[in-house]
Amino acid sequence: MGKVYLVGAGPGDAALLTLKAARILAQANIVLHDSLVSGEVLAMAPPTAELVDVGKRCGKKLLTQDEINALLVSYAASCEIVVRLKGGDPCIFGRAGEELEALRNAKIEFEIVPGVTAALGAAAAAGISLTDRRVASQVLLTTFSRGMEASALDWGNITPATTLVLYMPGPDYAEVARRLAEAGLPGDLPCVIVSAASGSQQQICWTSVSALVTEEKLPAPALMIVGRVATRRVHEIAAAFWREEGNGRAAESLSIS
Ligand code: SAH
Repeated sequence: MGKVYLVGAGPGDAALLTLKAARILAQANIVLHDSLVSGEVLAMAPPTAELVDVGKRCGKKLLTQDEINALLVSYAASCEIVVRLKGGDPCIFGRAGEELEALRNAKIEFEIVPGVTAALGAAAAAGISLTDRRVASQVLLTTFSRGMEASALDWGNITPATTLVLYMPGPDYAEVARRLAEAGLPGDLPCVIVSAASGSQQQICWTSVSALVTEEKLPAPALMIVGRVATRRVHEIAAAFWREEGNGRAAESLSIS
């Protein structure tokens, strides 16, 4: 029986791979990877390793999740080192839960090697701090489509000091703006869209919740950081925030249920 490593490939730049990920990748017999993983990272696997793209592109699934789970289990029976390589961190919006369960059920040894998730890569690219203490006290990593219940969103804990990181926002920014407004976020709340963070095609767009409607679409993969930290003028926003807070108006202007 072999061992399965769930490895994070980071957001794009191969230099953001952890040393452990690089070491395990270099020893792999087989690498099952998502489409998001860059060629530069894949090149770190030995030439003898078999590379299998199990990812999905443009909503077109190459393999179902059950098929991927079954592949992991069957490869572990014949290979010593099986690497399941995922973009960013393997356990953040990576369907790792289902794969880990399949491995546990099949009594296959596994190890998780964390990676730099896209939220952190994007924040670094934009040069902002997700937890800037002047305006933020919590970070919510979230997405619209969750499992079977596409509409099941639990944003109950958003406060004026929440930084929201929206993975997989999709191409319909007007719809995103509508849903953010529905969640009680004010139109002038800053938002930054980061596409291909840390990669050579990286693009950054500074906008706001209401202005999202007219923004040009950035290519996938892209995510949105929404909140008072999502601007290069945090100091100004912070000053206004605390002024409002002092007047007891902050909760009013951000009427989040
Ligand atoms: N496990 C990954 C996320 C997989 S979900 C992680 O931890 O980062 C895929 C989504 O992640 C994309 O739709 C996009 O929203 C985001 N993403 C992944 N790589 C990205 C990148 N380099 N730049 C911006 N967003 C990225």
